[in-house]
Amino acid sequence: MIVTTKELFAHAYGKYAIGAYNINNLEQTMGLFQGNVQSKAPFIVQLSKGARSYTHKLMLEAMMQTADKIFPEAIFAIHLDHGDEATCMDCIESGVYSSVMIDASAEPYEKNVEITRRVVEAAHAKGIVVEAEIGQLKGVEEDVVAAEHVYTKPEEAYRFVQDTGCDSLACAIGTSHGAFKFKGDQKLRFDILEQIQKLMPGYPLVMHGSSSVPQDEVARINAAGGAIKGASGVDATQFLGAAKLGVTKINIDTDGRLVWCRVHREFFRDHPEQFDLRGPGKIFMPEYAKFIAAKNELLGSAGQLDSVREYLKK
Ligand SMILES: [Zn+2]
Repeated sequence: MIVTTKELFAHAYGKYAIGAYNINNLEQTMGLFQGNVQSKAPFIVQLSKGARSYTHKLMLEAMMQTADKIFPEAIFAIHLDHGDEATCMDCIESGVYSSVMIDASAEPYEKNVEITRRVVEAAHAKGIVVEAEIGQLKGVEEDVVAAEHVYTKPEEAYRFVQDTGCDSLACAIGTSHGAFKFKGDQKLRFDILEQIQKLMPGYPLVMHGSSSVPQDEVARINAAGGAIKGASGVDATQFLGAAKLGVTKINIDTDGRLVWCRVHREFFRDHPEQFDLRGPGKIFMPEYAKFIAAKNELLGSAGQLDSVREYLKK
């Protein structure tokens, strides 16, 4: 069942966070749905601009709608990750997405407000909800690049939500995109979340760049011919603490890529005579499902599916 993130956030707020997973292909789609159904978790499928152009946006959208039929027990939102205005409008028109993110955070405040407000108006007219961003995350995600952290200012976040009417807000609290997140033992700025929660109790916040970059995964990749050096991520035991402070959506992309990389590298290392793509694919799908289910335990979303179903009936 495809629902809006607004409904999912209302159920999750203050208790747990919903995993938002970036999906690019068929094998990921199957693993994603299997993992969420197995762990009984509501979830968010994130489709980025890059994912939409990797094969074809219609292929990607059709896969999500078909997965909805194959897995009738799944409850999920289809969300555009880091959209520009034109991509947001395209997704709003498509009739497939229940949620879009407009990321105009690289623009000055007034311009960010102006763009975000246009997207909010178009989306709300069709019952679609909007995530926006203020402050900038360090790191690289497709064409979003920032050299340094620009932390979200709580007062500005409050004003931004009033000015734009956006339904949720991505805050910069020290996470970053990609596999190289921290030098030393840098901490997440939970104090920023706390201040925002005081200003906007009940308002859903989003944490981007929240992969954990497990060191055993990186070690296995490197042992199978990889060369990923100095990678590090977010401590996943912090997810529930963030959820209590109003974070209802936690974005995970890099960790899923690592699972893909590890499975394929190990498969061809161990079976150099093989060339059938279905060999590693058959290992990847259940491995990805296992990865999703384990993340949902850490997010607190595992086991919430029946309760969400009841909640949606009201
Ligand atoms: Zn992001």
